[in-house]
Amino acid sequence: MALIVQKYGGTSVGTIERIMAVAEKVKARQASGDQVVVVVSAMSGETNRLIALAGEIDGNPDPREMDVLVSTGEQVTIALLSLALQKLGSPARSYTGGQVHILTDSAHSKARIQDIDGARVMADLNAGRVVVVAGFQGVDERGNITTLGRGGSDTTAVAMAAALKADECQIYTDVDGVYTTDPRVEPKARRLSRITFEEMLEMASLGSKVLQIRAVEFAGKYNVPLRVLSSFEEGEGTLITFEEESMEQAKISGIAFSRDEAKLSILGVPDQPGVAHKILKAIADQNIEVDMIVQNIAADEATTDFSFTVHRNDFNKAVDILHRTSEELGARDVMSDDTIIKLSLVGVGMRSHAGIASRMFETLANEGINIRMISTSEIKISVVIDEKYLELGVRALHEAFDLDENKTA
Ligand code: ADP
Ligand code: ASP
Ligand code: MG
Repeated sequence: MALIVQKYGGTSVGTIERIMAVAEKVKARQASGDQVVVVVSAMSGETNRLIALAGEIDGNPDPREMDVLVSTGEQVTIALLSLALQKLGSPARSYTGGQVHILTDSAHSKARIQDIDGARVMADLNAGRVVVVAGFQGVDERGNITTLGRGGSDTTAVAMAAALKADECQIYTDVDGVYTTDPRVEPKARRLSRITFEEMLEMASLGSKVLQIRAVEFAGKYNVPLRVLSSFEEGEGTLITFEEESMEQAKISGIAFSRDEAKLSILGVPDQPGVAHKILKAIADQNIEVDMIVQNIAADEATTDFSFTVHRNDFNKAVDILHRTSEELGARDVMSDDTIIKLSLVGVGMRSHAGIASRMFETLANEGINIRMISTSEIKISVVIDEKYLELGVRALHEAFDLDENKTA
């Protein structure tokens, strides 16, 4: 007998018909002799709908109340799925995050899970029930409802699996696994039968929303076997694995992109010690995260140009702050652009192969795509380009690095 945690995303529970289909799948798994915990998201579109409702009242709503609001989406689906299971004759019980003590810190809208009390869930499982848990939500130590950030149900599932020492955590979604890139952008994308935690973490943090970053972090840290599968068709999906010596490493395993980026530059800043600190401190003080950073000495050697990227949600705030900093430092100008995207090549095999960067840049140049910023690490190369070139860039790189379907496995 195995203990399995299954997570079903928004599309998979988007209608009553689909919830019934999920119930059938869960029931079949349990009938085969396994214990099953199910984590569900809100019905597709629901979280966005709730956020928009609050937006009609206040453009900058209180984070605590927002978490009370958006966590309701998942509460609807746990009840509906339990009813569906019961209808099929399968005893099931639903729980909110708070009810199974998913304890988090108090960072509303981006809370981190600190502890889960698995005892209640185990008692139900041992009594032969299916346990249905609301994804995305928890409670802080004062009992306030918190949420884990967009896509956070993935993290609930992995954390549940870790707490219960489950044999596998299965993420059921609307694609049948992790692909070389988002199959919605490149139809020739190829499903990977395996990907390492390291690469998956990089793909997720560079914008591939198929798994929430924290879910991958958690799975790596607590050694949770993690698999991405389709809710709608049978198949093996993609297993997220630790790097194995024997694994034949492709140079590049995938292409990630993020449409959430915006770029800011401050030009002609006096080139003195402490300038980078002053610019970024003002940004960090407002809780804005900075991603890529580039500093260039200007031709006159007395001043410097400094550019960085932030999340598009923080763009307007960051522009205001930078204008203020610019006045303080006596800079020449501020430039800002929220029509850029970040495109990244990821692969652990990149470490041992020279020339990947130059091939990437050549491929983009051949398509007439101008690179605005570059950043690299051992297993990724990222570039910032104009958003209008997203599809073109992804497809050109996909072909150049032999990732297209029916090429190398
Ligand atoms: P769910 O609602 O089930 O959590 P998500 O929309 O969060 O589903 O994640 C699945 C989506 O992730 C897919 O529909 C796909 O468009 C997107 N995606 C982005 N990058 C990838 C990738 N490399 N492989 C597979 N899917 C990807
Ligand atoms: N419902 C939440 C969201 O839309 C959490 C999730 O789906 O994972 O982000
Ligand atoms: Mg998701």
